[in-house]
Amino acid sequence: MTNPLFDKHLQDSKMIHQPLFLAEDEYYEHVLGTTPAIESRVLETFENLEAWEADPLANLLLSDEQMWEGNRTIKFTTPTRLEKWTESYARIYATPYISRKFEKEDWTAYNRISLRIRPEMPGFKFVSLHLQLVNEGTDPVPDRYNREGCHHFNLKNHEWNHVSVEIPNVARDRVAALKFGYDIIGHEMEAVKESCFYLSDIRLERVEKTAKWSGWEPEAGSILFCGSGYQPGAVKTAITGESAADLFKLVDAKSGRIVLKKSVIRMENEQGKFSLLDFSEVQTEGSYLLICGETVTRTFPIAEDVWENSIWKTINLFFCERCGFEVPGIHKYCHGNVVDHHGDKSVVANGGWHDAADMSQNLTNTAEAVYAFFYAAIAQKENVPLFERLIEEGKWGLDWMLRTRFGDGYRTMGSGGSVWTSHLIGDCDQLDSQAQNLAIENFMAAAAEALAAEVLEDIDPPQSRYLRQVAKEDWGFAYEKLDFEEYTEAMDPARVSSPILLYSAGVLAAGHIYAVTGDEYYAEKAVEIAERVLACQQTEYPDWDIPLTGFYYRDEKKEQIQHYNHRSHEHEPVMALSLLCRILPEHPDWIRWYHAIVLHTEYLKTAAGYTAPYLMAPASIYHEDEADQDAELFLNQQAFAHSGMLAEYREQVRNGMALGQGYYLRRFPTWFSYRGNNGLVVASGNLAAFGAEVRNDYELLQLAQRQLEWVVGKNPFGQSLMLGEGYNYAQQYVCLPGPLSGSICVGIQSYRNEDYPYWPQSNNAVYREMWIHPSIRYLLLAGQMNRKAIVYGWLSDAPGTPLEAENLASRRLTVINTDPHTGGFRLELPSGEYRFKWQGLTRKLRLVNGREYRLDNGFADYAATWRAEGDTLIISLSASGTKPIEFTFLTDNLVEIKPVTLAPGETALLNTVIRNSLRPWLVVVVPDGRLEDKQELYPGEKVNSK
Ligand SMILES: [Zn+2]
Repeated sequence: MTNPLFDKHLQDSKMIHQPLFLAEDEYYEHVLGTTPAIESRVLETFENLEAWEADPLANLLLSDEQMWEGNRTIKFTTPTRLEKWTESYARIYATPYISRKFEKEDWTAYNRISLRIRPEMPGFKFVSLHLQLVNEGTDPVPDRYNREGCHHFNLKNHEWNHVSVEIPNVARDRVAALKFGYDIIGHEMEAVKESCFYLSDIRLERVEKTAKWSGWEPEAGSILFCGSGYQPGAVKTAITGESAADLFKLVDAKSGRIVLKKSVIRMENEQGKFSLLDFSEVQTEGSYLLICGETVTRTFPIAEDVWENSIWKTINLFFCERCGFEVPGIHKYCHGNVVDHHGDKSVVANGGWHDAADMSQNLTNTAEAVYAFFYAAIAQKENVPLFERLIEEGKWGLDWMLRTRFGDGYRTMGSGGSVWTSHLIGDCDQLDSQAQNLAIENFMAAAAEALAAEVLEDIDPPQSRYLRQVAKEDWGFAYEKLDFEEYTEAMDPARVSSPILLYSAGVLAAGHIYAVTGDEYYAEKAVEIAERVLACQQTEYPDWDIPLTGFYYRDEKKEQIQHYNHRSHEHEPVMALSLLCRILPEHPDWIRWYHAIVLHTEYLKTAAGYTAPYLMAPASIYHEDEADQDAELFLNQQAFAHSGMLAEYREQVRNGMALGQGYYLRRFPTWFSYRGNNGLVVASGNLAAFGAEVRNDYELLQLAQRQLEWVVGKNPFGQSLMLGEGYNYAQQYVCLPGPLSGSICVGIQSYRNEDYPYWPQSNNAVYREMWIHPSIRYLLLAGQMNRKAIVYGWLSDAPGTPLEAENLASRRLTVINTDPHTGGFRLELPSGEYRFKWQGLTRKLRLVNGREYRLDNGFADYAATWRAEGDTLIISLSASGTKPIEFTFLTDNLVEIKPVTLAPGETALLNTVIRNSLRPWLVVVVPDGRLEDKQELYPGEKVNSK
């Protein structure tokens, strides 16, 4: 369904060769700022500066240059560039503060700070100023990581900005100061050398009700829904609180007609009490809104392409993050003196994309982004403008990857910093780095290069040929180091380093090289390394009260479960194994790879049930002793590590859901300084999506959608976490580039050591920082969702006759006449369960996005069910149709089942034996050798995906 306004914005952006329009009136702060203050206290009368202090780099004076309501104002200036690094190399030079002192005042009667700020910084395209509250009570603010009480105001240059921040979450019983700081980030050539802010009208205020900032339950009178909309075939729900009315209505926003009137579903669980509005049966495309009692939502579409606009916005984010390029209105050519060295060679390593609100870049993000662009391009190949633009942006990052490799395994792994630079080689702001030769990154690069080679085969044949060669070389450099986990203290603590990810990246890259070159060596190697992936998986039922299985450990020793905090690669084993299943369908190990996918995705289904009704993918299983068992490894993986983290870790783990034997499932990661779970949620969404495609699993497809929904607004705070998409998106920490349509922040965090959501208005890094890592995952996932299910075939026995497709959820009937000459047909249908009827034959099909299904003459149905008696598994099989079907069986953890042929109407009982009752088993039933028509039989708990 087209959105004329967005289409106009896209045209205006010249299909994003200029930044996309960002609707600033949709900012959540716009809503908050209009909440009236019922009490207000002036904090400063601007008569003298006795209560003020300034850091050495800050200048402070009372000024009449910019008056506010006839009064003098505070003028605060700092340099915008220094001649040396005062704190850490290549990061923000310094943050000089001015402080307004207070006599340890009790501010608990107030819950908002408001003030006026006017920046006067010619040449700066974006400016921000940060506020820090200082509390010296039992709960000191700021905290150890400088997050609490810290808020960045995003400002308009050359005008008075009225800004405010709600502080109900901040300890303020003994307030000693309000500090204002400027991050010295360098400046572009055309910008001034001095920052300048005028401050006025600083107030403490009380509002009757602040916005929700913690917990799972929706705020009274709010309905949480997906601001991007819902696909017609999707499970469609919205969430409201326990006090909601009994009935809800779905209204066609154009005609005002009530389309559906239905009872809400009450539910109660560990997350609290909720009412669920389920309108899944409505599949007609259109614009809708929900009404429940007095509450009315904004409008949202039901349409097949609801994820497409956010894909365009993600392209916009990457375009605006381009480095070494003039992005109109965002920045000029940048970072011309970022230099990477290797022996006696050096390369100017700007280009590619900045990877966050700062201006750094690393190969992990770039390689994964390039992969996501080309993967999404394949998924969107029917949509020519989108396909072409995805390739164009993917090639921009690819260029950087190729340009910064030295050809001997060494390449630029990270470059840039958090400042604008002068471009002068030899200047004090030159940013130097050393090339590295690291296995995971070379595998990731090889995967992106091989996938790009495939997509560019016809579009850019010389580059495609070159990419095949470098993909093989890079893969080889990495393969030599398969037995070493490469981790040094100098590396980013959040860097991926564990063997399971090294192996997954190796399989993925080898699989793509084989797919594009046909070189059998890489197929053999992919199979060989896949064995290591399988060896890292939990494949038995553990001796726990809740015996979850199918998750991965860091390595084959299976001592420590693989976790992620704020960056995640949860989908990578399934992404790699599903590629193997696709390219090597005849391989004898196929069923083992497939079973690993089943186990991991079934784990996700069960685990996600513990965050109902959101079905946000939980973070991980942790053991309470884990940090103590290998304290060095644990602390190496944390930013700003300190020994107190070991006890905090244990407390965090115990706030998760007890599984038994000291194991707990945490909904949010254990984490300290770096917090925010969008990267995790969307990575698990990809796990579900890759699983849905290879397994043809509708439930997994829905679970994948729930993760996108979380990002764009169906979360406890009802805020979209992507700027410009959905509703109520809040300011992000976007220090250098400024706000960009499509940017996703790091994400919702949990409250201290608890395991429930925490989302204060305070805007700071990292949780509200714009980071491209979640966007890379989002692009990969939304690209998979924004596809149709296609049913086609040639029913030539009776051409020109009607074929019926009945959607079993909506009872909606689609009827087409096949081609009068060939019997050919092609249907695009929403995902879901269908019954097809033609010439007295019936066939049930479960359709998932992105898959194609073929119906042939004489199509038939079959059914397979199972029951177990001790170690004996009894499979019941039946067939319909007009001719016999030969069934073969691929099994894991079972004694082999011989093929059987059933005539139409015939049934059979087949017995086999479970080899190891401590492990799950799997049967894949294959009719007439057609793997695409397979059916799975497996034990295990099912979780309702609503
Ligand atoms: Zn740059």
